[in-house]
Amino acid sequence: MRIPFIAANWKMFKTVQESVVFAKEFRNLVKDLKDVEVVIAPPATALHAVAEAVRNSPIGVAGQNLHWEREGAFTGELSAGMLKEAGAEYVIIGHSERRRMFYDTDETVNRKLVAAIGAQLTPIVCIGETLDERENNETLSVLDRQIKTGLDGLTGDQIGALVIAYEPVWAIGTGRNATPQQAGEAHAHIRSRVRQWFGAPAADHCHVIYGGSVKPDNIHDLVLLPDVDGALVGGASLDVKGFFEIVARSRPSAV
Ligand code: PEP
Repeated sequence: MRIPFIAANWKMFKTVQESVVFAKEFRNLVKDLKDVEVVIAPPATALHAVAEAVRNSPIGVAGQNLHWEREGAFTGELSAGMLKEAGAEYVIIGHSERRRMFYDTDETVNRKLVAAIGAQLTPIVCIGETLDERENNETLSVLDRQIKTGLDGLTGDQIGALVIAYEPVWAIGTGRNATPQQAGEAHAHIRSRVRQWFGAPAADHCHVIYGGSVKPDNIHDLVLLPDVDGALVGGASLDVKGFFEIVARSRPSAV
């Protein structure tokens, strides 16, 4: 059985000091929680400090992006090895904000995935349709393209270890989340394509999580859906008590 996976994406919020205060308080709050995997993706400046603050706890730390090369003249970029050295075990790849504003494509997502896996980082790879694409009935074909090109060349074992975040772009930071029916349909489609293209063990093992305006009061309905294995949380992860509520309510024992 896949245990719920909840990740906090802090984007460009929180100083190093604020991040560490959160990490210490959160560590204390989750210390008795079982049956849930939790990851925090702080800004790169705070990654090492947060990793130190949660060391020897069940909380994992993620980078928010990476470059696919190991090193080079890429001003402002970070490699997989650098994230790993700073204490990350996970990395978010292909977030819609990076696709929309920083030119990530399915091809660069694929290169980043290969680099992350090569450095023993677990990728949290984001896919999802825009509002126009949904309104034009293209949701499932967009997901197919993102899966086919983004995950191209990966083995079934590598896919099984992935976290795939279905994030409808129109639901991110808008307060508008997908209905359980919309999320359920997209998640079931993603898992069936993974099964078809990469095999049953990959489909059974990979986590497919939902992202888009997740809050303490809607996590419950989402994780009740058979193919929703957790959530990627942006805005609501910035408040320590609110994020703890989301984590606590995602567990099978709370459902
Ligand atoms: C995100 O940034 O991945 C996200 C889902 O943001 P929000 O929860 O704020 O919609």
